[in-house]
Amino acid sequence: MIPFTVLSFKIIWTVFGLIIGSFLGVVASRYTSSGSLFSLKKISGRSSCNDCGHVLKPQNLIPLFSFIFQGGRCSFCHIKLPLFYPAIELVTATFFYFSLDLFNFYNLSYKYFYHLPVNTFYLLILLWLIFGCFLIIMSFIDLRLRLIPDELVLGIFILGGISLFLGHTSFLGYYTGIIPTPNDPALRLLLGSVFGYLFLLAPYLITKGRGMGYGDVKLAAALGFVLGWPDILIALFTSFMLGGLFGIISLVFKFNRLKTAIPFGPFLALGAIITMFWGIKLLSQYFAIL
Ligand SMILES: [Zn+2]
Repeated sequence: MIPFTVLSFKIIWTVFGLIIGSFLGVVASRYTSSGSLFSLKKISGRSSCNDCGHVLKPQNLIPLFSFIFQGGRCSFCHIKLPLFYPAIELVTATFFYFSLDLFNFYNLSYKYFYHLPVNTFYLLILLWLIFGCFLIIMSFIDLRLRLIPDELVLGIFILGGISLFLGHTSFLGYYTGIIPTPNDPALRLLLGSVFGYLFLLAPYLITKGRGMGYGDVKLAAALGFVLGWPDILIALFTSFMLGGLFGIISLVFKFNRLKTAIPFGPFLALGAIITMFWGIKLLSQYFAIL
């Protein structure tokens, strides 16, 4: 019998992420701006090749691996398959891999959460996994259609409300107090949300919606309502750093030849996820340098 080690758990968890990722890929690829995101009719249909229309067999539906073994081509008509599916599967698997740190986070931070029953930790971890999945769907829809579905923004607001109810306070642990922060957790979320909204409203108004869409503004408000103040500061700072860095790199290497605005939703998602997983580490590095 194989011993159930930490490593085997990590592998099982990551493969589970790959399977979830393939579901997220179906949701994100079948979404249209006129329909509902989770419409059963759209999600439940069987997958087929976009080109030859062949209904895919079970062996063509293994996340990531089918794509690799088929050399990135449809096994019926041999047309090149879009990178969309393996990309979203890989991103989700990576998210799940790093999400294992959340278990550590809630254990190590036990003294900050001592007022919570243990089951609440698991509910909170589930909540952050759903949050990550929402962000992944949102990012891939934004990349595909340059829009952010209101349903996802609303969903993120609801997650914020539930996290408040479950007693989550901040991902920044003992760094939460580096900036004046209201004691009332509800006020923290409200302040984070208003700050996120106003912070993105400015570039939206200045660029007249060309650099940043109103969807990004609404998303920032929702992220502020989940992460709260001051976590949202770290998230937005990281998003703008990464967005700026990406802008510079794409200018230097000229790979954004279409000269279209880069969608900002994925950067907001990345900023939020980095704050969630590594907020404390980033701040401790920053203060170590100081
Ligand atoms: Zn085909």
